[in-house]
Amino acid sequence: MAYFKYFAFFLLFGSHLAYAHPVCELNVNIDVSDSKISGTMEIIPDKKQSLALSTKNLTILETNKISNWQYLDEIRIEGNKNDHIIIEFTGTFKSNSSENYIGENGVFLIGGWYPRLSTPCYYKLSAKVPKGYLAVSEAEQIEEVKGDDDATFKFNFPHPLDHLHLLASDRYVASKEKHKNIDIYTYFFAEDEGYSKTYLDYSKKYIDLYDNLFGEFPYKRFSIVENVFPTGYSMPTFTLLGSSVIRLPFIVETSLGHEILHQWLGNYVYVDFEKGNWSEGLTTYLADHYYVEQKGNGSDYRKKLLMNYQSFVDHENDFPLKNFQDVSDEKSRAIGYGKSAMVFHLLRRAVGEDSFQNSIKQFISENRFQIADWDDIRTSFKETNNIDLGWFFDQWLNKKGLPELEIKSTKLRHESGDYLLEIELAQDGNVYQLDVPVTIYLNDHTKTRQILKLTKDVETFKINLGNKPLRVGLDENYDIPRKLSEPEFPPVISRIMGEKRIIFVLEQDEKPTYQTFIDLFGDKKTEFKTSEQIDISDLKSSTLIVLGRNNPLIKRLFGGTEVDAEGFNIIVKENPFNDQKVIALVNGESKEEVDKTAKKVTHYGTYSILDFKNGNNLRKETAPSENGINVNINEIQNEKSDRSDLDLENIVDDVKDKKIIFIGEEHDQPAHHMNQLNIIKGLYKINENLAIGMEMFEKPFQQFINDYLSGNIDERQFLKKTEYFKRWGLDYRLYRPIINFAKENAIPVIALNAETEIVKKVSESGLQSLSEEERRRIPDEMDFSDAQYRRLLREIFKYHPGSEDKDFNLFYQVQILWDETMAESINEFLNENPDYQIVVLAGNGHLVYGYGIPQRTYRRNGDKFSIILNDEEDRDDIADVRLFPQALETTESPKLGILVDKDSQGVKIHDFSEESIAKQSGIKKGDEILSFDNNPIASIEDLKVNLLYKEKGDTAVIKVLRNGKEETFELRF
Ligand SMILES: [Zn+2]
Repeated sequence: MAYFKYFAFFLLFGSHLAYAHPVCELNVNIDVSDSKISGTMEIIPDKKQSLALSTKNLTILETNKISNWQYLDEIRIEGNKNDHIIIEFTGTFKSNSSENYIGENGVFLIGGWYPRLSTPCYYKLSAKVPKGYLAVSEAEQIEEVKGDDDATFKFNFPHPLDHLHLLASDRYVASKEKHKNIDIYTYFFAEDEGYSKTYLDYSKKYIDLYDNLFGEFPYKRFSIVENVFPTGYSMPTFTLLGSSVIRLPFIVETSLGHEILHQWLGNYVYVDFEKGNWSEGLTTYLADHYYVEQKGNGSDYRKKLLMNYQSFVDHENDFPLKNFQDVSDEKSRAIGYGKSAMVFHLLRRAVGEDSFQNSIKQFISENRFQIADWDDIRTSFKETNNIDLGWFFDQWLNKKGLPELEIKSTKLRHESGDYLLEIELAQDGNVYQLDVPVTIYLNDHTKTRQILKLTKDVETFKINLGNKPLRVGLDENYDIPRKLSEPEFPPVISRIMGEKRIIFVLEQDEKPTYQTFIDLFGDKKTEFKTSEQIDISDLKSSTLIVLGRNNPLIKRLFGGTEVDAEGFNIIVKENPFNDQKVIALVNGESKEEVDKTAKKVTHYGTYSILDFKNGNNLRKETAPSENGINVNINEIQNEKSDRSDLDLENIVDDVKDKKIIFIGEEHDQPAHHMNQLNIIKGLYKINENLAIGMEMFEKPFQQFINDYLSGNIDERQFLKKTEYFKRWGLDYRLYRPIINFAKENAIPVIALNAETEIVKKVSESGLQSLSEEERRRIPDEMDFSDAQYRRLLREIFKYHPGSEDKDFNLFYQVQILWDETMAESINEFLNENPDYQIVVLAGNGHLVYGYGIPQRTYRRNGDKFSIILNDEEDRDDIADVRLFPQALETTESPKLGILVDKDSQGVKIHDFSEESIAKQSGIKKGDEILSFDNNPIASIEDLKVNLLYKEKGDTAVIKVLRNGKEETFELRF
């Protein structure tokens, strides 16, 4: 609320630096009973100069210089130094609603009450008022000379001033306190004198605050003056507050500080309105915003500024900040106060706290008692910080609208245990240069903040992270002036106030009850319909206000009414048919209740629910909305527990007391393996007696795993000796982070699986074909009785390629052999290591519903277990926890692109894939690979081990045998 105000005036001189200020002696006589002012103004030019005078509203009686003044609203005078120009004038100001008023309520003279010069001058005002009146005007000293029936007040303001104000009343009681060298006064009406002490105390506090920040209070005198009209103006040396304003309890905490800061910003440094009013945004930022920020709620305040902007400003009525001169409506307020304050916030973030303060301080001291514009602010920031922010001021002052940001996509990669998050940011419409703050929430309950420097319409940023990211929040604290995304923008009162077209839904006879409320929307395109006349196209296209809590439309749309029956109530809701529109439900108990409240509603723009009784607000709430633009990176679900806050740490908490934790995978999905690793890490933190059982290794090779974990052999030897590539085959980079973690922490890794040779024999000829010796190497107990498992496997078998040629029974036997072998391996380990807990990593198929490994382990030892599956979309009882991670990209080991002749010994090339790098390097079909970087190659597995250590851009030397001769080739990956 609260604004000082000057009248935009043209200036005769090009630059204010060239001013020479005339002296204006103004002597007036106030006749209260006739609502009349009369007097003389004597102008003494500083040098030969051409002056413009506005005489609007006045009658000029006499002048010594001008002949044709009778016909002009504005007169020009050619004056010389020491050449006195005298103008005798009179004016009548009766109306209560005009800018100027003289009458029984007092004297209220704001604009055009004397012949006003278009250039600042040194004023000497003398005002004669009736006896018992106290008068206030811009002054550092006021002298009162009492007459018999009147009093003359002489005002001394020793600085050039744009124009004067004059207030006087016989109801004023003046109270004074001295603070530092400043006389602080209140001129309150007798009935409000009780507020004086509070206002004086708060004034001292604000003066101290801004003294410290920006340099000494500019004047020796400061007054808070009460006004019968509901104003909130600030003029040099005083502020003029309406009675209704003064009585509001929160004014001392908000508007008073705002008006006092205007003593520096606007009244000490003047505003060149034609070039843009910078003072409201800066004052709002350093007063209203500052007070809220001190209480820790700065981001809420900024979000509300953006909510108001979005409610009242659209593409059609928007204008660049530079064109803001004075507040005329909610739209201009949203731009000139709101957007402007956000721009100063951004500026403070760009240069830092101290530099910001120093720049403003310099701006004030450089421009004191002069007119300043945005360029002067830019200059102060440039000089203080030694950087040219021309681009910054250009984009924020000259462009219409706000940036429209979007997280277009996110991608997650992982490289040897670390994550690389790619965020693609986009901006719609005008392209701004922005420092975009993002917060990344990680799976260990920490978060990291980053600034993304956005300069284009679409840009991708890469961020390295040690832990898995779960969510990205963009500008959660509202540091950027920007358009709110739909989930950030709650349904609030401002959205109905700012709407251009509204349909009122009401029953005909209710209109008189709600008339005062309906009048709030007077100049808007309003339509009136009954609930029966509302069709789907109205709902899809419009914002609706439904009047009366029993309106049948409420039931149709929302099932029932939540609107209170008592007093006056509003609930603003999302329009379920159009997320750009809202629906307001309004109920008034009686016409009286509506009349008492309706006009107050506009002051509650950022609320969604309001309850009033007898004109008093009893409840105000804003519907919940998101803070920042949020994107989830990883969605984890557990429908059994129906918890939306589930993350990996919660899961660890849920399963930590189980002896066996099965974590399923699709073998080639890096995201699944990272989930496994993260759960293992979480469990290990709680219990170091942890082992990892793996389907990927076969039982007879356990010793080589142990050798590797204890450091006896290196990774190449480990992979070769366990025959990992021959038996499992998938890129070892998928499992490497898990095994590395096990190695670093001496966690046992248990080979669970059956030997390929035995499995192969069973798949070809059945269990009965195994030899005695082979039988001893598989479990004694094999349970084939689970009919449900059998049915499930038959379903899978049907879709298996080539299944028609094969026997389902053999397929079933192989499955049971795998499951029973792995269950047996787990059981053996736990029997030997009863203190241990084990995490089992296996394909989802071995774990679903517990049919495969879990129940077969339980049959053996009765230990409690949990099943966690990745990306299993079947029924929710398929597992205890189902995870649905976002796909994770990763760099695979490079490939040579060769097909090997199966029938020959060694690695003889049968064919190439299309983009084979082996082929590109000159290797030909029929060549036999002998070595890779001098490591002998006897099998395709040997090649895979070597390729594991190659990255894009690396080279390798390959020796081949061609036609009996050795040849050497260099490959580039
Ligand atoms: Zn203001």
